[in-house]
This record gives sequence, C-alpha cells and structure tokens, in this order.
Amino acid sequence: MDKFKEMKKFGHEQLVFIHDKTSGLKGVICIHDTTLGPALGGTRIWDYKNEDEAVYDVMRLARGMTYKNSAAGLNLGGGKAVIIGDASKIKSETLFRAFGRYVQSLNGRYITAEDVNTTTKDMDFVKMETDFVVGLEGKSGDPSPITALGAFHGIRATLQYKFKNEEIGKYSYAIQGVGKTGFYLMDYLIEAGAKKIYFTDINKTKVAAVKTKYPDAIYVEPDAIYSQDVDVFVPCALGGILNDKTIPLLKAKAVAGVANNVLEDEIAHSKLLKERKILYAPDFVINAGGVINVYHELHGYNKENVLNDIKKIYDRLLEIFKISDLENTDTQSAANIFAEQRIKQIHNVRGNYIIK
Ligand code: NAD
Repeated sequence: MDKFKEMKKFGHEQLVFIHDKTSGLKGVICIHDTTLGPALGGTRIWDYKNEDEAVYDVMRLARGMTYKNSAAGLNLGGGKAVIIGDASKIKSETLFRAFGRYVQSLNGRYITAEDVNTTTKDMDFVKMETDFVVGLEGKSGDPSPITALGAFHGIRATLQYKFKNEEIGKYSYAIQGVGKTGFYLMDYLIEAGAKKIYFTDINKTKVAAVKTKYPDAIYVEPDAIYSQDVDVFVPCALGGILNDKTIPLLKAKAVAGVANNVLEDEIAHSKLLKERKILYAPDFVINAGGVINVYHELHGYNKENVLNDIKKIYDRLLEIFKISDLENTDTQSAANIFAEQRIKQIHNVRGNYIIK
C-alpha cells in the first residue's frame, strides 16, 4: 500500500504508528481532517491479517468520522485508532496506558473513545495517561439510549419529508435487531403510539425480552424482516444489510435506523433506494447521537444541552433531503455534500484575521 498516495487521494493529515515494548502494543492512529477542530473517533481492537489491512481500515474509519462529526454540527474533525491483535488476549492495563501516552503525545490533535472491542473500563486506563479521552464511566455514560433518541427524531424527520406528516402513531415499523439501541428505539416508538411494530433478532433472549415487555409487537424470522408491509424499515443490527438482494424485497417507503454502514455499497445502493422511491436517512447523520453525547464531555457535560443538540438531527436530515431533491441526487451523496459544505464554509469563515 502506497500510504502517501492514499493520504493525498483522500486528504488525510497524519498517520501515526505506535509500538510499546513492555505491553506489546501495536497500533495506528489516523487523523483525517482537523479543519473543524480536534479529530475525534474511537479506538478499535481488531485482529487484522496484516499491516496494510489495519492501515486501510483506520484511514477509512477516520475519514468517516470527519463526515459524521461535520454533519452532526460539532466542532470536531475526524480521526480513529486501531490496536492490532486478538482482543480476548491482548487487553491489559499496561497496553491501554501505553496507548494513552501516545494519544497524549499528539497534544489534543486526536481525542479517543471506546469502539469495537474496547469498553469504558478500558478507557479509564487510557485516561490515567491522557487528557484526550471521552465516553468515560460516570460522565456521558452509555451512548445507546441517546443514539436511539437521535434516531427517533430522525424517523420523525423522515416521516415528515416522505408523508408530510410526522405523527409516529400513523405508521408501522419493521425493526431489525433489538439490542442496546434497537430496544430503546422501540421504547420511544411505542411510547409515541406506533401503529404496528414488527421486529426480529437472531438472539432468542432478546426476542423473549421484547415479547415480555411488548406482547403486541410481532416477531418475524430474520430473513422475513425486509419484506414486511410497513411504512418504515428500521435497521438496528449489522452493517451491509441493504444490497442488491435485499433492497428489491423492501415494501417500506422509508429506511431510518441506528445501524452503521447499512448500505453494502454506499452510493450504488443509496441510488437504488432512490430509484425505488424509498427515502433513506443516511446512517452517519441519523445515528450521530452517541458522538454528540461524548462531545459534550469536552465542554462540561450537561444533559439538557445534549438533548437540545440531539433534537437538531431532525433539522439536519430535512436539510439533507432537500439537498438531495435540489441536486437530484441520492440522500447518501446529499449527506456527503452537506458535511463537505460545512467544512469548507467554516474554513473560509476562519480565514479572516482576528486577535483571539
Ligand atoms: P447490539 O449488539 O447491542 O445490538 C445488535 C442486535 O442485532 C443484537 O441483539 C444482535 O443479536 C442483533 N442481530 C445481529 N445480526 C442480526 C441479524 N442478521 N438479524 C437480526 N438481528 C441481528 O448493538 P447496538 O449497540 O444496538 O448497535 C446496533 C447498530 O447501531 C450497530 O450497527 C452499531 O454500529 C450502530 N450504532 C450504535 C451506537 C450505540 O450508541 N450503541 C451508536 C451509533 C451506531
């Protein structure tokens, strides 16, 4: 992999290779773009097959965070870190503290948080060595209910744009995955009077928990969730689930949920949804509740301020849907335009000289 070529192609600012002799820490920190502020993104542990795979992944994820943070209206750039190895074997206090020291050495250009295979407890060790970590226990806490609330506002915006009416109770929903976020989202929808809810999960314990709490919710087998005759398909499980095979099965008129990387091919499948007149709420916009929540840790965490910011997901989605109509493009491309425009505009605003 020609790393400089790749950095030039996508505008990455910095790639940092880290190694610690004592703990065996081996990782890469990537800062994509800091126009809007320090690069924020979580630390993922993954057993990559080789170095190139790790570098490719961290660069892709860091760039994704630039778009997510910009579209969320935050004064943050995009970054990410990966630690290479089997999470069940390599985790230790020493490893996370060694990692924390490298984060500190970047002097605030990169702020880390938990991600796949890391927890808030791991971040407590990171915190012992750096000021630049968020999402800690006892601070912003579990992001799942806030992420679900953001998606709830996003569903309202999607209904408003699609049907010119956002009354949750008038519509039916098919929820894929009732884990940490899916279950909370179901709570919000049912509380708001959702007409009918179909749901699925591959985990029988989770299915049973939903059946106990909401006997009227209708369970369907995992493969059957796509073809339910509902208004909104709500993905809350894995990525890559909407593709050439599943999109033709959809009867829903809109897709809006919390799952990351819902579309197998971002642009091709966003276009396919548009062709089928299914309104797609871009994942990185509708699921930004978690990052908005941790962002507030940087400014003295206040729940009321967080909830106000979470509500803005509604307005942002409406703006993105409008861009998609004006530019006659799919909604994923419109979300990219929206994020890029904000970065460009703030960069220009900061171009004039003032004494700070
Ligand atoms: P989770 O693991 O708690 O829940 C996912 C659920 O999906 C599980 O119950 C799992 O059994 C189920 N599932 C997996 N494969 C399935 C399949 N093929 N069919 C049906 N169900 C299936 O995870 P979560 O935290 O709720 O996150 C869900 C999605 O939302 C992920 O894509 C995640 O990246 C994204 N997300 C989460 C947050 C957050 O705050 N937790 C923030 C942003 C994005």
